[in-house]
Amino acid sequence: MQVTVFLELFNYDIEEAKRMTKEKLALEVIDRLKKEYPDAGCTLDYDQAWKLLVSVRLAAQCTDARVNVVVEDLYAKYPDVASLAAAEPEEIEAIVRPCGLGKSKARDISACMRILHEQYADNVPTTFEELLKLPGVGRKSANLIMGDVFGKPAIVTDTHCIRLCNRIGLVDGIKEPKKVEMALWKIIPPEEGSDFCHRLVYHGREVCTARTKPYCDRCCLADICAKNI
Ligand code: SF4
Repeated sequence: MQVTVFLELFNYDIEEAKRMTKEKLALEVIDRLKKEYPDAGCTLDYDQAWKLLVSVRLAAQCTDARVNVVVEDLYAKYPDVASLAAAEPEEIEAIVRPCGLGKSKARDISACMRILHEQYADNVPTTFEELLKLPGVGRKSANLIMGDVFGKPAIVTDTHCIRLCNRIGLVDGIKEPKKVEMALWKIIPPEEGSDFCHRLVYHGREVCTARTKPYCDRCCLADICAKNI
């Protein structure tokens, strides 16, 4: 019995020590990425909250650059929530098709805008739980809206975030977005989360790349990264 208690305490200490080590690492990574990408922000263009909702749905399996071009045509024809809510999904699909997955994206955007129009007076809901209930909005999108639109704590676990956090050693072999998000909440100061994730995107595109070998030789994290490549 006593041995069991001791082992439990010992395991607890190891887990706590690991968490503290990762927390220290996280603070250093945050600090260095801030210096490297001081102005990093969302790379989807938007000037109103509902437009970010639309763009983030279109960005699934599509580049932000392409989304930014496609939405220009969409908003020229449908300049507000009410007009987009009144459009048929097929009409939306005809414009957003270049982003890929046109049918399902148009269906989600249509359903989402109709809910905003009918239930929220054309506004975007302000809580994470309400955002999650909108068609086509998952945790990643809801976190992005919370962080970028409402300035609330947010962890956006996109493909760059997951790849880099595993490579750097902030998480260990976790690939499922929600699990990565939960692990990061424990070690990232809440007020840093949103900007930190934007900076990971920049670093993932420019240095710690997915399709080529990462450029560790010119990486500002090279001496502290676990390099789990
Ligand atoms: S040292 Fe290499 S693996 Fe680590 S973050 Fe930099 S580029 Fe990525």
